[in-house]
Amino acid sequence: MSVDLSRLSSAERLLWGYGVTDSSHIDLDAIANDNGAEVKYRPLGGCEARLVARGESAIISVNSASNDGRQRFSLAHELAHWICDRKTGSFLCAKEDIGPQSAVAKSVEANANGYASQLVLPTYLVVPWIKDRKITLDVSALLAKDFNVSLTAAAIKLVKQATSPAFLACHTQTRLTWHQRSATCSSEFFMTSELHQDTDAFHMAFGGVGGMSRSKREPASRWISGRGVFRLEVNSQSIKLPDASVLTIVTLVK
Ligand SMILES: [Zn+2]
Repeated sequence: MSVDLSRLSSAERLLWGYGVTDSSHIDLDAIANDNGAEVKYRPLGGCEARLVARGESAIISVNSASNDGRQRFSLAHELAHWICDRKTGSFLCAKEDIGPQSAVAKSVEANANGYASQLVLPTYLVVPWIKDRKITLDVSALLAKDFNVSLTAAAIKLVKQATSPAFLACHTQTRLTWHQRSATCSSEFFMTSELHQDTDAFHMAFGGVGGMSRSKREPASRWISGRGVFRLEVNSQSIKLPDASVLTIVTLVK
């Protein structure tokens, strides 16, 4: 495998330096140890993960009560603090601070999330993995399994890297809590803030329907607004998340 080093992010360069050429090679515990940080998994009250720095060494604690994907992302997040923010001391990071969906805004926590996202889902491995695959939640679930990350983290990465217009949206019963669009998506399109009553996502949010829906072709106006939307169609697929919000991937049909 060959990569253009000048195009790698700093987190990717770190992985590449450790000889990572496959998702199974990404051993965050080993990387932490090699950088002087000991990793402990234990129940944590009041925060999701923390970093205690002592000179050139550190202890990273990760909440053992959280699921695997979250623990992994939390470790990547604390590693980011240790490697990128080393001079600024210790960190106590809440659940809201850590997550792939908050990697956009500019702050120390957002920067750590951006770096963590590249550690668990490095673009140089994900892009060849995606190749000609569809942008769906089914494919996100496969990506999540192969890279040992949460479905949400995988879906964000998949949509960001999509070469055709795609959206990822997270809705509660009353509003759009966050969304991500592909780089190829026209800025003339906007995600609608409320769920349309004819969508599977609506029935998941308001009814007892759980699990993942099948990918479905439907009018684009159920999901997006903007010029000429009434003439377009989308494919959508939704899943109800454990916190009762609904995650949906929407792709424009050409
Ligand atoms: Zn943090």
